[in-house]
Amino acid sequence: MSKVYNFSAGPAVLPAEVLERARDELVDWHGSHMSVMEMSHRGKEFMSIAEKAEADLRELMKIPDNYKVLFLQGGASSQFSMVPINLLRGNSKADYIWTGAWGKKAIAEGKRYCDVNVAASSEAEKFTTIPDPSGWSLDADAAYVHYTPNETIGGVEFHWIPDVGDVPLVADMSSTILSRPIDVSKYGVIYAGAQKNIGPAGLTVVVVRDDLIGQPVDGQPVMFDYATHANNDSMYNTPPTYGWYFAGLVFEWLKDKGGLEAISMINHRKASALYKTIDDSGFYANPVDPDCRSWMNVPFTLADPELDATFLEEAKQEGLVTLKGHRSVGGMRASIYNAMPEEGVAALIDFMGEFEKRHG
Ligand SMILES: *Cc1c(COP(=O)(O)O)cnc(C)c1O
Repeated sequence: MSKVYNFSAGPAVLPAEVLERARDELVDWHGSHMSVMEMSHRGKEFMSIAEKAEADLRELMKIPDNYKVLFLQGGASSQFSMVPINLLRGNSKADYIWTGAWGKKAIAEGKRYCDVNVAASSEAEKFTTIPDPSGWSLDADAAYVHYTPNETIGGVEFHWIPDVGDVPLVADMSSTILSRPIDVSKYGVIYAGAQKNIGPAGLTVVVVRDDLIGQPVDGQPVMFDYATHANNDSMYNTPPTYGWYFAGLVFEWLKDKGGLEAISMINHRKASALYKTIDDSGFYANPVDPDCRSWMNVPFTLADPELDATFLEEAKQEGLVTLKGHRSVGGMRASIYNAMPEEGVAALIDFMGEFEKRHG
């Protein structure tokens, strides 16, 4: 098969045009006779790549000047630690909004550093909804409020930004960053592992308001101090250079597509079409409250789980791959990040209709 549509949750599909460009530049970047992978991170070629990527990300997300953009390693999971280490600033309490599996991990790590107040949770609803903010028990003295705008496993997404007053709002945007415009000024910290909507695994992007930098918890590793990276343009040590370069190509691709407004309209269309297919059938089901269904990760079940293996096998024959749901949820999950073309979603919808006709 020459081409497949890859619905993996992460590492995930990358734009075909970007992969082709990276291939073309692989062994000789812009006449340098070097691969980006071989370049000194302090050389002028790589510096130009790094600066362009940051400038393009700032433009796409409209990041205000009082925010630093950090290009780090360690994944979103390291941010579960770096957030308390940097944001507690002498405080001993933090609020967490718990809407799924990734929030649970962030909470567990937060507890190693402070008293975690789970200000709202949808555990009782099996993480199929977002608790109404009128019932949240936010603490005005908390050092920060952490939430997960898009829960990648459960497929639950906030389509609004929580109002937490003056307390810094922290968002794990790993699986939703760049999928739509957001008001960065509402946040203290935004972080994301790259492997969903930005580029290859190994790069982690952190956007942090500059007044929150520089008062880390004592005795922690220097690499976990935002100031270490902010004061050195993310080059305190060797950054993930190829991932940073590749992310830059993805940012250029997004700009060419018309930026985040344009991609958000496409994402909304893709998700709506897929949810409509699920809701209109008596065969497929998605358990998530329609108000908080994810645009990026669409879990669904078949009426008869005995058919799961057949569905996956037949889908694969049609070039629709990596649709198996997370082991904790079962069923299927279609991750339809920015790089998933509308034709890919249309092909999945066609296949689902055919499959239901034959087996439903
Ligand atoms: C994938 C994911 C993570 C984990 O990211 P790593 O880079 O593997 O640490 C954390 N949070 C969310 C929301 C994710 O989707």
